[in-house]
Amino acid sequence: MMQKLSSQELMQLEEKYGAHNYHPLPVVLAKGEGPFMWDVEGKRYYDFLSAYSAVNQGHCHPKIVEALVDQARTLTLTSRAFYNNVLGVYEKYVTEYFGYDKVLPMNTGAEADETALKLCRKWAYLKKGIPEGQAKIIVCEGNFHGRTITIISMSTDPDAYSEYGPYTPGFIKIPYNDLNALARALEDPMVAGFLVEPIQGEAGVYVPDEGYLAKAYEMCKAKNVLFIADEVQTGIARTGKLLACDHENVRPDILILGKALSGGVFPVSAVLADDEIMLTIKPGQHGSTFGGNPIAARVAIAALEVVKEEKLAEKAAYLGEIFRSEMRNIKSDMIELVRGKGLLNAVVIRPKNGKEAWDVCLKMAENGVLAKPTHQHIIRFAPPLVISEEQLREAIELIKKSILFFS
Ligand code: PLP
Repeated sequence: MMQKLSSQELMQLEEKYGAHNYHPLPVVLAKGEGPFMWDVEGKRYYDFLSAYSAVNQGHCHPKIVEALVDQARTLTLTSRAFYNNVLGVYEKYVTEYFGYDKVLPMNTGAEADETALKLCRKWAYLKKGIPEGQAKIIVCEGNFHGRTITIISMSTDPDAYSEYGPYTPGFIKIPYNDLNALARALEDPMVAGFLVEPIQGEAGVYVPDEGYLAKAYEMCKAKNVLFIADEVQTGIARTGKLLACDHENVRPDILILGKALSGGVFPVSAVLADDEIMLTIKPGQHGSTFGGNPIAARVAIAALEVVKEEKLAEKAAYLGEIFRSEMRNIKSDMIELVRGKGLLNAVVIRPKNGKEAWDVCLKMAENGVLAKPTHQHIIRFAPPLVISEEQLREAIELIKKSILFFS
């Protein structure tokens, strides 16, 4: 049994024994349920981060936890050296759910992105006919796809890539939301894919112009280039549709999912594609010990069922409108801009009297709402999609009070 320690003591433990690769808000959480979390002293908070959009279905959703516990008591891991009695059922469910021929199961978002990059390159050599070793993939400035060496090789954020070289070659970086730049990059015959976030989440919830994704998809098609959507953060109902690409009726050639694919209960990620692409990877050419394990498979089915049963996409669309309009009504010169889609939103904070987004987040925590700044001046607001309208309105009042404190 763990001894009961105070928040202060627990933070000191992390400081002393953990690597300093994060800078958390000084709150130590001990329990979660639905849209709420409680700290070790028993104070209740509205969660407006949802573990970076992993907990769309709410904390400790009973149906998802039940699937986890039941499967954990029965069979946890076989590896893919053998078949198991859950994986195929999940693969049928998830491919029908999203409308693809095949799925390749992984664990984290970064692994799924890596998988998509490998898949794209394989397809380039085996199907498109690009000479081996020469394929290029177009990516966007401001992207965030995870933390591996190859992924940070695509990054334009010095915090993400500095002092981690040498980098993986083969990427062309273009500005986000810029179709002319995409057209120029697509002129290169060695281009095999275009990897894009439908909304750039980590960069600060940058929503591209309407029509950008649809047009980009069309341009990729014209050049026989794979359109690869990273929906790790935007997917699974977060933006008011099952996928953010659905807003523009775009069906990516390769779809990357993670985070809320498990409702934040277990690391589960996936790459979806049709046979022509997916079957270019043959046995032994890619894999993961934990990828597609029985717990992940059971948990993901339950998490996806919850999304439909509780109409989370529709809820996100409806509540998102309320959130943005209420934020825009706050009379404070600290609010520079409000943007987002569904329940993936950001407020850009104009610093005042030396107070910035971090101070607003500390004040919100004091008032019972947890959110975190991204890139200094931007606060992302992404509550679990199970939040009710009444709860959302209560949280909005707490956010208002916190911002107005400095105004
Ligand atoms: N892709 C996107 C769009 C993300 O937002 C993230 C994480 O925030 C990732 C990939 C990486 O996911 P993970 O942290 O599970 O590796």
